[in-house]
Amino acid sequence: MRKAVKKVFTALIVATAVTVTATLDTISPVAAQGFERLLQGAYQSFAISNLSDEQEVALGKQINQQLIARGQIRLSGNRRINTLVNRIGQRIARTSDRPDIPYTFQVANDKAINAFATAGGYVYVTTGLLQATNGSDAQLAGVIAHEVGHIVGRHALDQMRKATLAQGITGALGVDNRLVVNLGVNLLQRSYSREAEYEADKLGLENLVRAGYPASGLPDFLRKLERGGGTPEFLSTHPSSPSRVERLEQIIREENLDRRG
Ligand SMILES: [Zn+2]
Repeated sequence: MRKAVKKVFTALIVATAVTVTATLDTISPVAAQGFERLLQGAYQSFAISNLSDEQEVALGKQINQQLIARGQIRLSGNRRINTLVNRIGQRIARTSDRPDIPYTFQVANDKAINAFATAGGYVYVTTGLLQATNGSDAQLAGVIAHEVGHIVGRHALDQMRKATLAQGITGALGVDNRLVVNLGVNLLQRSYSREAEYEADKLGLENLVRAGYPASGLPDFLRKLERGGGTPEFLSTHPSSPSRVERLEQIIREENLDRRG
């Protein structure tokens, strides 16, 4: 367990003790009630990974509200780039292995080159990432398809489940839904496991082709970041690039994804 995560948990445990009797101040009572109802019966941490789609979307919505309310994400009001990201995102969501939930694609005002996904169809790309794709729809689609792969694999829920198990605070999740939301907010920009990253890559590549984008968009983008030097955020929270690019290209060859793109 990393130190930072441990710290978060210590804070969460303390927060739980305090908030069990306190009123919810950051989540609107109506929304919280709805979410509590949704979570009824969902007791203990392994239930996190067995949430219904409806429950997961409700959880994602609350995490999203908190990210914005706490200023952790500042949404861009630029209509042109929002339209672009949403158009590509919805096209990819439709052909994904999980097309039946609503997807919300948003642009964060942030120079760092990054993209992330949380529970329930919420995907974020930064203005820095958009700039780095340099107008290439294929590269942007590659990154978005990878993030949608995290949604398909329910990786945020899996990460939350593992984190709670590691701390032995499973029972607390049935007590205070705010803990679950806090967990999602605090884990958002942390790395998923390498296994989850590889799965998102594979799902993303296959989906890109179904959506009509070249599968090469994702490895092309990663290679470009490598050539640019430095350590962009996207690479620091994702597996290191050389092996990842090789692996992506291997999947493209083995599954003949280059011919269909
Ligand atoms: Zn990822």
